[in-house]
Amino acid sequence: MAETYDADVIVVGSGALGSNAAYELAKAGKSVIILEAGLRIPRWKIVQNTRNSSRRSDFNAPYPDLPWAHTSYDNDYLENTGSFNFRPGMLKLVGGTTWHWAAAAWRYLPTDMKLKSTYGVGRDWPISYDDLEPFYQRAEEALGVVGVDAQDQSGQNGPASPPRSKPYPLPAEGKTYMFQRLEARLSPLGFHFVHEPNARVTKPYDGRPACAGNNNCMPACPIGAMYSGIFHADHAEKAGAKLLTDATAYKLEKGEGGKIAAVHYRTSKGEDVRLTSRYVIVAAHGLETPKLLLISDVANSSDQVGRNLMDHSGIGMQFLADEPVWPGRGAVQQGGIFNRRDGEHRRDYAAVKHSIANNVANPAVAARLIKQGVLGPELDRRIREDASHWVDFSTTFEMLPHATNRVQAHSTKRDALGIPTLTVHYDVDDYVKAARPIAEADFHTFVKGMNGTLVEISEGFQNRDHLMGTVIMGSDPKDSVVDGDCRTHDHPNLFLATTGVIPASGVINPTLTGVALAIRMADIIAKEV
Ligand SMILES: Cc1cc2nc3c(=O)[nH]c(=O)nc-3n(C[C@H](O)[C@H](O)[C@H](O)COP(=O)(O)OP(=O)(O)OC[C@H]3O[C@@H](n4cnc5c(N)ncnc54)[C@H](O)[C@@H]3O)c2cc1C
Ligand code: SF4
Repeated sequence: MAETYDADVIVVGSGALGSNAAYELAKAGKSVIILEAGLRIPRWKIVQNTRNSSRRSDFNAPYPDLPWAHTSYDNDYLENTGSFNFRPGMLKLVGGTTWHWAAAAWRYLPTDMKLKSTYGVGRDWPISYDDLEPFYQRAEEALGVVGVDAQDQSGQNGPASPPRSKPYPLPAEGKTYMFQRLEARLSPLGFHFVHEPNARVTKPYDGRPACAGNNNCMPACPIGAMYSGIFHADHAEKAGAKLLTDATAYKLEKGEGGKIAAVHYRTSKGEDVRLTSRYVIVAAHGLETPKLLLISDVANSSDQVGRNLMDHSGIGMQFLADEPVWPGRGAVQQGGIFNRRDGEHRRDYAAVKHSIANNVANPAVAARLIKQGVLGPELDRRIREDASHWVDFSTTFEMLPHATNRVQAHSTKRDALGIPTLTVHYDVDDYVKAARPIAEADFHTFVKGMNGTLVEISEGFQNRDHLMGTVIMGSDPKDSVVDGDCRTHDHPNLFLATTGVIPASGVINPTLTGVALAIRMADIIAKEV
C-alpha cells in the first residue's frame, strides 16, 4: 500500500525564503504545510506599536518577543562567547525578519561566486552566476525590485554588471536630494555612486501601493510598499498552503534511506505534533536553521552545521557637510560608493561597500547635542541645523568563512518550550581588519570632499544582520552541508532555504539571493515530488 503523508512538503519558517518556496510549490499543485513558530500580527498593530514605542531606534521594539519565539535581541536567548557581540536583528512572526529589513535587493557578481578561483581566498560556490540568473529574475519579480538596468554594480564604472537577461521589473525611484549632492561633489574625486536595487515598489504592484517616501522602512513600512515575507506567506495560503502558527519545529526525525521521515513541532501550550511529508524544507533563518539541524542530529556528517558564520561586520561614520543635504527624505537607503566591491585587492583584504544611510537624523543629532550640554532654544536651533547637514555612511566588509565562527544550540539553557537557546562564537578576522584603514581613508576623503566636520568613526565593528555560511553550500560533502541545489548532502529529501547556505559573502545584502535559491529549489522539488 502506498504510504500516506500529511503533506507533499513541510516548510519550517514563513519568512521571505520559506514563503516564496511554499508559494511556488503550492502553485505547482503540491500540498504544503508551513510551520511558523511565531504569530500572525496585522500591519496596523505593528505600526501602532512603532508609534507608541519609547525605543524608536530599536528595530525589534514593535514586534513580539514571545517566551517561546524569542527575537535575537533578547540577551537571555542569544549568548555570545567570542570577542564580537554578534546580535543581528531576527524576528519571529508570520513573514519573518524582512518585516524590518532595509529591502536592498542586490545580485552577486560572477566573481563573488567564484572567489577562490578568481582571487585565491575563501570558497567557490558550486554553481555559477549563469545557473542562478533566471532565478534572480524571478526573485526580483516576486519581490517587486526597482533598479537601474545600465549601471555597473561592481563599482568599476564599466559596462552594466552583473549581466541580466531582462530589465528590472520596476523603474528606480528618483534620486534623493542628499544622494544628488554627494554624487555631484564626490564623484569628481573618483568615487563611483551606484543606485541600490530595492524592493520598494515605485508603482502599485502585486497588491502593494507605491512607496510614499516617508522613511519608516525600518522598523516597519506602514503601507506595505516595502516587500516583506508576509506577502508571500499570504500568497502561499491563497494558493492552498496550510500555515500553522505557534508551531515551533524542534525535531527532524530520521527515516529509512537517509530520508527525513517527519517533523515534530511544539505549541506554546506544550502540545507536541508529528507531521510527515515527502520533502522537508527548513527555512528558519540563518541562526535557527542550523540549530534545528543540530538538535535533531541531522545533515551534519561534515561537522559544518552552524560553522562558517559570516555577517558583513561593518563600521560607520557620520559627519556634518558644509551645506544642508536633508537626509530622511525618501526611503532609508538608496545606494552608495562601490569602488572597492571588486578587484585584485580581494586577494589581500576584504571588499568594501560604502552605503549612504538616509534615516531621519534628528534622534542621533539630538542625543549628541544633549550630551554636549546644549539645551533650550539653542538645542532646537542646533537640531534643525545639524540634522539638515548630517551625512551617515554605513560601511560593510566582505567576510571569509571560518569554521570557528559558529552558532550552536546552548549546552544548558532552554526556552519556555524546553528547546535549547542559541550560543554564538564570532571573531572578526585579519582579512576584514586589513580593509578597515582603507575604508577609513575613504571616510576622510568624503569629509574633505564635502568640506565637512567629522563627527565620529565607529569603534570596533557593528552587526550587519546578514547571516551566511552556517549551513554552507559546496560540492564536497566532507566540508559542506548542502549542494548547489540547497539539498543536504546527507538526506535526499531535506532542503534548506536560508541565506545560511551562502559560501562566499561578497559585500551585498543576501536576501534576494536566498529567495532566488529558494525558488530554484522549489522547481527541483516540484519535479521530484
Ligand atoms: C534591520 C535589518 C535590515 C536588513 N536589511 C536587509 C537588506 O536591506 N537586504 C537584505 O538582503 N537583507 C537585509 N536584512 C537581512 C534579512 O532580513 C534576512 O536575510 C531575511 O529576513 C532572511 O529571511 P529568512 O526567510 O531566511 O528568515 P526569517 O525572515 O527570519 O524567517 C524565518 C522564519 O522562521 C521562523 N522560525 C524560526 N525557527 C523556527 C522553528 N524552529 N519552527 C518554526 N518556525 C521557525 C521564524 O519565526 C521566522 O518567521 C536585514 C535584516 C535586519 C535585521
Ligand atoms: S519610504 Fe515609507 S512608504 Fe516607502 S518603503 Fe519606506 S516606509 Fe514604506
